[in-house]
Amino acid sequence: MKSHYRVVVIGGGVVGASVLYHLAKFGWSDVCLIERKVLTAGSSWHAAGGFHALNADPNIASLQAYTIDLLSEIEKESGQSVGMHMTGGLSIAGTPDRWEWLQSAYRTFQSIGIEDVRLVGPEEAAALCPIMSPHDILGGMWADREGYIDTTGTVHAYAGAAKKLGAEVIENNRVLELHQTADGWQVVTEKGTVTCEHVVNAAGLWAKQVGRMAGIELPVSPLNHHYLISDTIPEVAALDHELPLVVDLEGFTYMRQDQKGILLGIYEIDHDHWMMDGAPWEYGFELQQEDTDRIERELTLGFQRYPALQHVGVKTWVNGAFTFSPDGNPLVGPVRGKPGYWCACAVMAGFLQGGGVGKSLAEWIIHGEPEADVFGMDVARYGDYAGNKRFIKETTGQFYTRRFVMTYPNEQLPAGRALRMAPAHSEMTAAGCRWGASYGLEVPLYFAPSPDFVEKPTLKRSNAFDIVAAECAAVRNDVGLLDISGFSRFEVTGPDAESWLNRVMASKLPAPGRAKLAPMLSETGKLKGDLTVFNWGDGSWWIMGSYYLREWHMRWFTDHMDGDVTLRDISDSTVGFSLAGPKARQVIERLCDGDVGALPFMGCASFDIGLYRCRVGRLSVAGELGYEIHCHAMDHIGLRRALLQAGADLGIREYGFNALLSLRLEKSFGIWSAEFTQGYTPAQTGMDRWIDWSKDFIGKTAALAERSAPPAQHIVTLEIDAADADASGFEPIWHKGQRVGFVTSGGYGHSLGKSLAMAMLNRDFAHIGTELSVHIVGVERGAKVIAPSPYDPAGKAMRA
Ligand SMILES: Cc1cc2nc3c(=O)[nH]c(=O)nc-3n(C[C@H](O)[C@H](O)[C@H](O)COP(=O)(O)OP(=O)(O)OC[C@H]3O[C@@H](n4cnc5c(N)ncnc54)[C@H](O)[C@@H]3O)c2cc1C
Repeated sequence: MKSHYRVVVIGGGVVGASVLYHLAKFGWSDVCLIERKVLTAGSSWHAAGGFHALNADPNIASLQAYTIDLLSEIEKESGQSVGMHMTGGLSIAGTPDRWEWLQSAYRTFQSIGIEDVRLVGPEEAAALCPIMSPHDILGGMWADREGYIDTTGTVHAYAGAAKKLGAEVIENNRVLELHQTADGWQVVTEKGTVTCEHVVNAAGLWAKQVGRMAGIELPVSPLNHHYLISDTIPEVAALDHELPLVVDLEGFTYMRQDQKGILLGIYEIDHDHWMMDGAPWEYGFELQQEDTDRIERELTLGFQRYPALQHVGVKTWVNGAFTFSPDGNPLVGPVRGKPGYWCACAVMAGFLQGGGVGKSLAEWIIHGEPEADVFGMDVARYGDYAGNKRFIKETTGQFYTRRFVMTYPNEQLPAGRALRMAPAHSEMTAAGCRWGASYGLEVPLYFAPSPDFVEKPTLKRSNAFDIVAAECAAVRNDVGLLDISGFSRFEVTGPDAESWLNRVMASKLPAPGRAKLAPMLSETGKLKGDLTVFNWGDGSWWIMGSYYLREWHMRWFTDHMDGDVTLRDISDSTVGFSLAGPKARQVIERLCDGDVGALPFMGCASFDIGLYRCRVGRLSVAGELGYEIHCHAMDHIGLRRALLQAGADLGIREYGFNALLSLRLEKSFGIWSAEFTQGYTPAQTGMDRWIDWSKDFIGKTAALAERSAPPAQHIVTLEIDAADADASGFEPIWHKGQRVGFVTSGGYGHSLGKSLAMAMLNRDFAHIGTELSVHIVGVERGAKVIAPSPYDPAGKAMRA
């Protein structure tokens, strides 16, 4: 062990080994991995080694596909066998809803370029896995590139390939302490102290403790997981080919061949957390006692699905732990305020995802950002609230139990709810509000007319359709009131506030008393934000954005801070309402002594609204005459009451974010995580029209380069011929059988009476009038490119 490395990776499981390999592969060989015992000594040695294609997040599915391709490469580079069994795999559906969902998932795979998947009927499914009982099977999805590997061999292959590239692996040496230094980290180990520029927490079952060594409370917990390996099954022994990997989505099980028997793994309905504060340091190559009573229901389903199991014994039981985050995706990336500390934790399927995690993290450490949009596994998608132990227990448990249970886009899950509530929450609930959750905050979805109303989970249009339609109509015809506590607000002050904002935002800054849309770019010219900047004219500025990006944006701001600037996230103390619709001015004027009615479009100023000191911006995401009224959290209840009372005779109606999503779609206003992501560029998304090319800003060089070589795809608006379901995202778009793009978001435009979508489309097909088709919930529907902003294209309503 040397006294200094550029990077120290803590943990020699599959994830740490993959991070080490990718760092070395990308040219950083002054790197080492420190392992408490020997490689694989955490979860990795007892994993089932299966890999399969499905993931609800298409970006993560792409990284899984990368991992699968990588396995044979590391075998070659290291000379160490990974024990590859590329058997192909089958996910089976046992209910009509699930079958519909699989058909949608199949189309999503096509959208992201994973072509080696196909749908199969029940007979073919049964033929592909002859020991499987076909009862209840309606269909399945076959993927060529699924199977299993030898877990220990794979970890050694990653590590071996890394060593050949100059990296070091140090075993039997526990990291005891971490200390932040001026230029990196001091890593205190059993064998002495080393310094490094970067330290990576890849400590798996011990990630919690290695987080705490740096003062970080990671939202992660281990849970136990069973699989059994059967004795020899004569039907399997008689086969001339290997069985495929089978995931029985209704049965909570996965199955693969193991020698002449099978391995049956179980996602346990009655889940079992284990050592929530991290595994004991002395924990070795150990397992928990199997608990067959707890998993009896799933075992029964498994034995029915594979009846041969009823005639042979169980050779081995494995009940081991592995780690989960609240949404089941990994926790990867840097941590705000801890420069040089990187997470590669909570990787629930390390053999499937470890390659993608290692690649992305190594790119991030070396180049400052990963190539792919990895927000879905970014540790900054959670804030401090997620460190709460009960929250972690509820959410990780919910994810684990629902691992194979489909979640509908309109479905609200109960774990960790209601966590944070804006003050008017109770009164809004009494008014019928139905809530969703964003970054721990309850946000209004719509207002149900009756307490008995129950929204049915569906992939198609839901029974809340008419409610949302009525809310949209109120906004378009009269006036609507939306609680916008679920927007983030950052306050920027100090002598260098303006020059700092000028550098981080690519747009021209607003004049005093004005607001402006402001794209924020990374150094490589990718989007980092679709923000709104307010210049209050008193030396204070606000940045407003998506609430769930609070920590993500704060990390970016902090990393790019310079000069005498004070930046505060005021989203908890400042909340507010949006008033939108042709009668919005009348309502606000009734409550205001000042000349709020004279506020120009995109103007902003302080006003007294009723009894409350407010800040008001004249803008609206709905595309109507609108005012965003910001108040102190303590004023939230009173301001709501005052606004509703003032608008009572004008037909004011409260609405939720479901209506807002429809209204903004009719205006072709993009939103983050759909039209705007860190994977896209300004020219692809139309954000370039807000760029001020005359000034210097982060990402200018790359954005200029893009300007002279326009991208192959860009965002368009589509009208879709759909009667019962609307696009939601990642549906493939076709032109005469050729895939020419994919949907970024979609929905029903209630005031236009049309199914609409926004889409990333190849340039050659992006002209108005081009006839296309889109697969929505598995069914091909006609679509055509239309001019942006089908509602009020000239923007007269907003400017009224
Ligand atoms: C029963 C079971 C079946 C599974 N089946 C599959 C499957 O089929 N496919 C799949 O992809 N995944 C599967 N998994 C999950 C898989 O095992 C994990 O995703 C993976 O092992 C996580 O790897 P890791 O490197 O993050 O963590 P770990 O394997 O836990 O590695 C962490 C390492 O860090 C070391 N360490 C911790 N603290 C320190 C310290 N302070 N100093 C030095 N070293 C330290 C530990 O000793 C350990 O070796 C399964 C898990 C279980 C339990």
